[in-house]
Amino acid sequence: MNFLQKLALSYSHKAMQKSLENGFNVKLLKKGQEKKVNSKKSYMLYAHIPFCHTFCPYCSFHKYYYNEDLAKRYFESLREEIKQIKDKGFDFTSMYVGGGTTLINEEELAKTLELCKKLFNIKEISCETDPNHINPKKLEMFKGLIDRLSCGIQSFDDDILKKVARYNKFGSNKELQEKLSKAIGVLPIMSIDLIFNFPSQTKEQLLKDLEIAKSLKPQQITTYPLMKSNLTKDNIAKTLGVSFKDHEFEFYKIIIDFFKDYERNNAWSFSLEKNTFNDEYVSSHHEYLGVGSGAFSFLDGELLINAFNLNDYSKLIKEKQNANIAKANFSKKEIIKYVFLTEMFAGKIEINKFNKTLECNLEKDLFIELLGLKLSGAIKKESNTLYTSEFGRYLFMVLMKDFYTGMDLVRAVFRDDKRLQDKERINIMQENVDPLDFKSMEFKG
Ligand code: SF4
Repeated sequence: MNFLQKLALSYSHKAMQKSLENGFNVKLLKKGQEKKVNSKKSYMLYAHIPFCHTFCPYCSFHKYYYNEDLAKRYFESLREEIKQIKDKGFDFTSMYVGGGTTLINEEELAKTLELCKKLFNIKEISCETDPNHINPKKLEMFKGLIDRLSCGIQSFDDDILKKVARYNKFGSNKELQEKLSKAIGVLPIMSIDLIFNFPSQTKEQLLKDLEIAKSLKPQQITTYPLMKSNLTKDNIAKTLGVSFKDHEFEFYKIIIDFFKDYERNNAWSFSLEKNTFNDEYVSSHHEYLGVGSGAFSFLDGELLINAFNLNDYSKLIKEKQNANIAKANFSKKEIIKYVFLTEMFAGKIEINKFNKTLECNLEKDLFIELLGLKLSGAIKKESNTLYTSEFGRYLFMVLMKDFYTGMDLVRAVFRDDKRLQDKERINIMQENVDPLDFKSMEFKG
């Protein structure tokens, strides 16, 4: 990386932290805010399934330990919230289901997806899963319901799997390959999700992971960088070890080179064939509505946060109230920056289309930012389109990682009920909270 690139990376990282500080100044609501439809906009539906059997040490997603009765009651509330959204006039063409372990109770999930297909014009559903929930017989029941299934494998290396506590839970390299080869092909798109840049991971281990993933011929492969931040680094060091040199950029270049014969969906996802249905709902949909405990909605420049506590969530739904308990407002400039990030993360921006959708003048509104990015060689303009360079892809990947790290902090703050008590506002980026603190993930209903 040359001097200008290092400068661009450091400046962009600081600018992102500043944006998150401004944006994540969250107001706690006494009463949930009404979600209003704008008939000119298209929305995506996000549903959250907050349960896992056990927890992985690097994972900061919102989840509680699975309990069948609790989960059944949760799914009932979730379907009730979906019906309430329909009554407000919303419609969706695509849906993303995230967790937790989304397929932890297949029957309940199927019932929920069938309801969504009945109520809305949903054409495609993407769902996350883990290697213990890809039994072909069980997957058969999702034919015609789930279009894309992404399976978190993280690594095929037995040593790494042991370190991340997945070897006993999900199986060895050999077992993972057997499970995947039986599951690939049951549903239209299967994505194998890997993580790179584990402490002590070598170049050879990374290449082996990529080769195995490719040899299984899934329709997509996604390679996430390990999400580390100042707040999680101690916890990661405790469980995964410490590395004295960070290999993120070097490994990213290896990945890009390895998948040069694949279609690029965005900075970290690759497809055998061209398709638009990928892993990042935030990059493919600017506005989305989230249902379920801890789900986020981004509507009209506002981030709405649903109740995390399962009792609070069910109570709100039962009383036919809005399930959101907090909101953050973004200025016009922050919205432009956010959409710019998500689109450049996917590789390009058609300037006229961008300006029309956001009613802005991108080249004027982000003049300084675009100048810096052009000077460092991160982006280039050809006629009416901005493209990312190889370095630009890495830079936007790092910024997306920063953004997700910020969202992890929001989750960590909001699942800690005590922290929210008697507060009117909370500035998330100033809270000293560890997103990997498992104690705060135990549900005491
Ligand atoms: S990585 Fe997946 S299975 Fe592991 S704790 Fe996170 S959501 Fe659960």
